[in-house]
Amino acid sequence: MLENIRIVLVGTSHSGNIGSAARAMKVMGLTNLVLVAPECSVDGQAIALAAGASDIANNARIVNTVEEAVADCGLVIGTSARSRTLDWPMLDSRESGIKAIEESTQHPVAFVFGRERTGLSNDELQACNYHVAIPANPEYSSLNLAMAVQTLCYETRMAWLDSQAYKGEVKEQEYPLSEDLERFYAHLETILDTTGFIKKQHPGMVMTKLRRLFNRARPESQELNILRGVLSSVEKIAKETSK
Ligand code: SAH
Repeated sequence: MLENIRIVLVGTSHSGNIGSAARAMKVMGLTNLVLVAPECSVDGQAIALAAGASDIANNARIVNTVEEAVADCGLVIGTSARSRTLDWPMLDSRESGIKAIEESTQHPVAFVFGRERTGLSNDELQACNYHVAIPANPEYSSLNLAMAVQTLCYETRMAWLDSQAYKGEVKEQEYPLSEDLERFYAHLETILDTTGFIKKQHPGMVMTKLRRLFNRARPESQELNILRGVLSSVEKIAKETSK
């Protein structure tokens, strides 16, 4: 999934931004960096800011046009600090991470970032399926390039973590169904009657208060199983002593 999502930087002029973007990617598990007609090289400054992610900066693929960078992609998301006159399908940053992860199992996905000063041209933006604007302060919404890369890589990672949580075997149900709770309350009432703590015919407020206690605590399925086990162990002793 993450290996199928690439970061495309267009016309970057500060090499430090390339290094910082590489680091921003690697900490979030992305590795695929493409530079479109960079106006600087991957120099010492870039490597210094990349820190442990210099491999990503050094292995960046360099191409001449956005078209080339995204040719094999099935989903291209262009980034922009401001909404343009151009009306285009928009995603917010969270949605863009979710969409990128969803589609990354079918085809390569690209996030395209613009030049430090002028962003992406209209032609470059029109090569994208969607545009995403990080919902920053409307008075000053332009993030540093590498920080915009960080923000969208983070959203992508969050979406990826979510997708992993639901993968594989069916997740054990966290909370019991209300019918399971009802069975627990019936069991509890029977046991408390057996031990003589309440009279089943005249239980008073005890069961109501115990229900309120357990509903407030909201036991998880596993905890409810433990409580059922406790009741069964009491039941066993009660039966033995009444023989
Ligand atoms: N003046 C430029 C800003 C460029 S900032 C403009 O108006 O487009 C450099 C790059 O960082 C942008 O091209 C974009 O890729 C990214 N970026 C900065 N702020 C962003 C934001 N709020 N949402 C999405 N991308 C942003």
